[in-house]
Amino acid sequence: MNSMAMTHQPLLVDQFGRHKRKLRISVTDRCNFKCVYCMPEHPEWIKKHQLLSFEALYRFCEFMVHRGIEHLRITGGEPLMRQGVVHFVAQLQQLKQIGLKRISMTTNGHYLKRYAEALKQAGLDDLNISLDSLDPQQFRQLTQKELTPVLEGIQAAQAAGLNIKINTVLIRGMNDDQILPLARWSKQHGLMLRFIEFMPLDGDRKWSAEHVISEHEILAILRTEFRVQMKSTAASDPARQYLMDDHPVGLISTITHSFCGSCDRVRLTAQGEFYNCLFATQGLNLKEDIVALAALEPQRERALQNKLLRCIWHKEAGFHAIRQKQQSRKISMHMPGG
Ligand code: SAM
Ligand code: SF4
Repeated sequence: MNSMAMTHQPLLVDQFGRHKRKLRISVTDRCNFKCVYCMPEHPEWIKKHQLLSFEALYRFCEFMVHRGIEHLRITGGEPLMRQGVVHFVAQLQQLKQIGLKRISMTTNGHYLKRYAEALKQAGLDDLNISLDSLDPQQFRQLTQKELTPVLEGIQAAQAAGLNIKINTVLIRGMNDDQILPLARWSKQHGLMLRFIEFMPLDGDRKWSAEHVISEHEILAILRTEFRVQMKSTAASDPARQYLMDDHPVGLISTITHSFCGSCDRVRLTAQGEFYNCLFATQGLNLKEDIVALAALEPQRERALQNKLLRCIWHKEAGFHAIRQKQQSRKISMHMPGG
């Protein structure tokens, strides 16, 4: 495919008029953590030979940027567990010549001490780091890993000058006592913090509405110590923005204030399944088409485009519409990535 010869075509739109501008690419389903809200007790990993190669992923990203994608997020599983991911970030920079604006990554932070500087050199624009507790014992209960490497990873990412956001999933009875400690800590370290409502995407389907700490409750707790004011929020930003005193905090409230009405995201799993929504009950298997695209078979491009456009068009209204149909979902968050 001659990338420079193609024109930018904003084609990716669903039946509700929502344009897709963000693509999340999971580069692996594997993870060294076992977060209670994500990983099943007995995960079945994708076989290594079934993963899409970075070459194939790159061609797919290029194809999508030509069709209107402006923002790529690399996720997983744990993306820093896949060898070659830093080089992939560097390679993706080429797509900025054809319309890509940002390249981001979401990580659990465990390997950041090793990779932060290289990610900065590779041109990564944004880094989201998950951190659900500052209490070492609680952190271990939540993730089955140690807190210290993550705190060191955050330090390394700050030292490298990466643009960081900290993401915290709150679960009632597990880490809801961390709201104020994390708020204080983020302020003290000059880090943007976002609290995320627990979503029914856990591998072992233990989610229940009672486990969710709502935006309303989080704000009430923050107000016991900070002056909290709402800020204006960009329509496509999933986090509603607030200031606690003069420090920003975001709340991603998919359950109580879903942002589905303006959702501009689509996702690809590491083995080539395309999801038009995080809560979609089924993905579209695009593996063969993506491999053919990478093998420069131009006649397959039209077929891939038609499949994709149809899938995107049929994106449901959102989380609540899908829940009402009570369809069960086969995959958990570690597959399509958050
Ligand atoms: N391993 C990386 C990490 O943990 O940041 C990237 C993948 S992880 C699936 C991406 C994000 O999804 C993390 O911020 C994680 O906290 C979030 N997540 C996973 N399961 C979730 C759930 N059931 N509800 C809300 N957020 C969830
Ligand atoms: Fe791994 Fe991220 Fe899932 Fe935790 S949330 S188990 S770190 S993929």
